Amino acid sequence: MALWAIALYHDTGMTAANQERVLRGTGVTPLSGVGTVFGYDPDADLSLPDPPDPAAVEADAELGRFRRARERVRENLAAERERTAERVGEEEAEIFDAHRQFVDDPEIEAAVEARVGEGLPAEHAVDAAFADAIEQFEAAGGVTAERADDLREVRNRLLRELLDAEVSDLSALPAGAVVVAERLGPGDTAQLDPEAVGGFATATGGRTSHAAIMARSLGVPAVVGLGEELLTIADGTTVVVDGDAGEVVVDPTEERQERVREAGRDVAVRHDPVATVDGRSVEVAANIGTPAEAPGARDQGADGVGLFRTEFLFLDRAEPPGEDEQYEAVVDVLETFEGDRVVVRTLDVGGDKPVPYLDTAAGENPFLGVRGVRLAPGERADLFETQLRALLRAAATDAGDGLAVMFPLVATVEELDDLLARVEAVAASLEEAGLPHRVPELGVMVETPASAFVAGELAARVDFLSVGTNDLTQYVMAADRGDERVAGLHDPRHPPVLRALDRTVRAAHDAGAWVGMCGEMAGDPDLTELLVGLGFDELSMSAVTVPAVKERVTETDAERAEALAERALAAETLADVEDLLAEEGAE
Ligand code: PEP
Ligand code: MG
Repeated sequence: MALWAIALYHDTGMTAANQERVLRGTGVTPLSGVGTVFGYDPDADLSLPDPPDPAAVEADAELGRFRRARERVRENLAAERERTAERVGEEEAEIFDAHRQFVDDPEIEAAVEARVGEGLPAEHAVDAAFADAIEQFEAAGGVTAERADDLREVRNRLLRELLDAEVSDLSALPAGAVVVAERLGPGDTAQLDPEAVGGFATATGGRTSHAAIMARSLGVPAVVGLGEELLTIADGTTVVVDGDAGEVVVDPTEERQERVREAGRDVAVRHDPVATVDGRSVEVAANIGTPAEAPGARDQGADGVGLFRTEFLFLDRAEPPGEDEQYEAVVDVLETFEGDRVVVRTLDVGGDKPVPYLDTAAGENPFLGVRGVRLAPGERADLFETQLRALLRAAATDAGDGLAVMFPLVATVEELDDLLARVEAVAASLEEAGLPHRVPELGVMVETPASAFVAGELAARVDFLSVGTNDLTQYVMAADRGDERVAGLHDPRHPPVLRALDRTVRAAHDAGAWVGMCGEMAGDPDLTELLVGLGFDELSMSAVTVPAVKERVTETDAERAEALAERALAAETLADVEDLLAEEGAE
């Protein structure tokens, strides 16, 4: 295993923190790595000289150069697609299909032809045509803006061919290199060897960029959106890339480096369900975004899927997926898990996940606006209904026994009653149409303080609750999950969050429902004992952290864990909780 590690929570105060400098961004993998900076500029050698006199430019010759360059880029993309499909997976390889579409895009071609017609040589024409497209993507904001890096990568491929510039090779970096760049494209990221590199860090970019998706699939520690200050770090400087906290620590102390290395040791994969030393079973499941991630999750020993974020099927496209496409995606995951539980979350767009065909981004504060199940009634009720039809049909297939469905961002009992009525209505219409269907296990995500306060009433109506601590923490603490300036407040170990968790677990159990957690907190092995002590029946996390959390469950004594939870619930401050956890960890 490379020098990467399951992320540790922030500094516990034991280190001489004054020599360290911390840059905050967005973590894209829950992994940490330590290494030395290798500065990389994807645009290096691609600056263009001033264009020649238009009269000296022969349009036909320039268009010929452009077409030949395009042909070579197509060939390179096809080769990289094949390599990525073998090394990473089919889903990731499809990113190169999207790049191929940019290469063949008729609007970009027309723009290049027009610029050549105005007297520009091919490379200047390509640069200008892509500059316009990049500007349009960035102006659209959200996920579309993150695709601008894909456009840049395609532009650079074309320019490299036209300028005969050297092709970047990140596949053979020195061991422990941490790639530091303004931005990375998915093609750059796909070259990284997760066994060798310490990670990567970029000044720009977001969690859902293709480079971020590729990093998660490869298991490379990565933090993006760190700002321009990142680019001032000299080559060879030692850094820790903490993908969980979303931080890059410059000149980390020896203790911190050691902790990261220690946490990165090999942990055995356990394929059987696990229990505490005194016999309490805890289900350890994986979070996935697409069916392509399911086999990898199984390979890490996940007992099932605790959160299938179906919105990834809805992003990056002009139209929502139809009923059959959704049905097939869910059946695919159910078949991979062969009857083990697969919890599918209904569509959770809005907030930080806008989609072009829905007006969810409108409003001053999208996180408090129309997101999650707030979309179920209203103008696009059809989207929710279509998804439910697909899910109820999937539940009736051979592998459908394991299906469970949960609703995101519920705040009130009325909302849940309305959702349950919609499920009944969909079941009735499938019955009428004579289509095989079944109402699966149903659950509610506890992500709002409101739902934690009425957890008992919610749990009485469903089979399970699952706590989304990413949102619950943001709403309990009034601290935006993506704003690094309030990252200290967005920490689920704050006593108010712990008390919301306790109330939720008790309410669920009193109502006879099981209760899980699928926020990032569940994937931190240093918190496993606390969560077992609080009484969680299931923990669901990024697949890479499943082995370490399973190991921690087997080392936990449930009675002792309960005593720890009791002390944590009595704590007044985050520092008290940190001290308790450090004490417990040291024993
Ligand atoms: C959460 O909020 O903790 C959660 C699991 O949902 P998401 O991160 O997709 O909002
Ligand atoms: Mg959430």
